[in-house]
Amino acid sequence: MTNKLSADTEAALDLVNRTLTEAETCDHAVSVLNYDLETICPEKAMAEQSNVISYLENQSFKLRKNESFVRAAETLFRHRGELSEFDAVLAETLHRNYLKEKNLSPEKRKQFSDVRNQAFLDWLRAKKTSDFSIFAPSLEKIRDLSLEETALREERLPDTYDNLLDDYERGMTAGELDACFGRCLEVLLPMLEKIKGSRKKIRTDFLRRRVTDEEQRRMTDYLCSVIGLDMTRSAWALTEHPFTDGLWYDDARITTHFHPTAFASSMYSVIHEGGHALFEQLQPEENYTHHIRMNKTMGQHESVSRFYENIIGRSEAFIHLIYPETMEGVSERELYEAVNAVTPSLIRTEADEFTYTLHIIIRYEIEKRIIGGTAAIGELPELWNSLYEKYLGIRPENDREGVLQDVHWASGFGYFPAYALGNFYNAMYYRRMKEDLSVENAVRSGNLGKVNSWMAEHVFFSADREDPKTWIRNITGRSFTAEDFLQYLTEKYGALYGL
Ligand SMILES: [Zn+2]
Repeated sequence: MTNKLSADTEAALDLVNRTLTEAETCDHAVSVLNYDLETICPEKAMAEQSNVISYLENQSFKLRKNESFVRAAETLFRHRGELSEFDAVLAETLHRNYLKEKNLSPEKRKQFSDVRNQAFLDWLRAKKTSDFSIFAPSLEKIRDLSLEETALREERLPDTYDNLLDDYERGMTAGELDACFGRCLEVLLPMLEKIKGSRKKIRTDFLRRRVTDEEQRRMTDYLCSVIGLDMTRSAWALTEHPFTDGLWYDDARITTHFHPTAFASSMYSVIHEGGHALFEQLQPEENYTHHIRMNKTMGQHESVSRFYENIIGRSEAFIHLIYPETMEGVSERELYEAVNAVTPSLIRTEADEFTYTLHIIIRYEIEKRIIGGTAAIGELPELWNSLYEKYLGIRPENDREGVLQDVHWASGFGYFPAYALGNFYNAMYYRRMKEDLSVENAVRSGNLGKVNSWMAEHVFFSADREDPKTWIRNITGRSFTAEDFLQYLTEKYGALYGL
């Protein structure tokens, strides 16, 4: 703590705390209702439940937009030097959001939200019928909205795309991404050719073996416990699309989906979402009491989920640990190879660890061209298909498995790079972690607690208080780079394919 606060600052802090506590009570209820809506809510109850959610969301919104709250938040920002570290971060966060939305009238806000809602519905219809022309008019509006919204900002970066990127990954720029992704292409494309030409044959037939719901249920419980999730503060349920919701400090829930003939898919979604939940569970409790627990960027969050899913979950040590006795006729080595097999594919969410980044680079290149005005919306399906051909050597047959596969563009641009950044960050801290502990031994012997403690101390501790580039430098002592990730892939896949 710092010095005694002036009376003004004290009053402002008190008002901000009281208001945010009230708003977060509404948000908390919204999260519970949403989780229920996604999991067990009866179909006929959904409309009514959605009304309750809208009502509570609006209450929370009104509290945060209240004039006396906004004034108090600005007072805090001016006196941030007097505040504790956690409160100073809160003051900066509130100020940043204030500047972003200052010039947005309620009418504009409503207009933007209507465009996004319509875009989502059009995307659903377009994907169902695999017809991009249904989505195209909405996507044009989303592009215009993105340009207009960034132009209205009180403080903005010179490059429009950087402003969009900054919403998901504070401080990251397209210039830095260009350099990282350029290096990825330089290293990954020739290596992918070698993998395709390799004589190594990986057996994957048993991944399609039928596994009952009951067995997958047991596997889900087992995996949650193996990765060290505290199940007195977590729960899981089934949904169409798996997700994690950190509802509150003692309540980080995940969901999964059972695939009867693709057990590895639900297995890795449990580990991925479990990683997100560990991040939520093992962060400092002060993040909650000081209202900054939502500061984590998408890239920071994905770094953790992908760390558990790929670096840990797809390691030989982890496969040794969980090698199921019931998997008749499959060796431990065969299981390890199968969950790491590299196969260029059309669908990002089903991509292997090696080719995943190429899917992101394709989206990034297209996004930049949409925002920069060098690609018309009507050209996107062809642009998409030709980039898949260029980088992955395969071409979508239709828009459903091409440009329409992801929902993200129905709400805007700038999100996708976070997935790749997550891999760059986690390779950097994994390298640093190995200086402190034998990760392989810890995992092999089922002692994930050691890994989790290291993560809590180094990775989770200050994530909400630092921008990602400062955060990763403080963890590793080095500047942000994609090189560790490329080295990790080169070593792992070079060994697997005997290159
Ligand atoms: Zn995730």
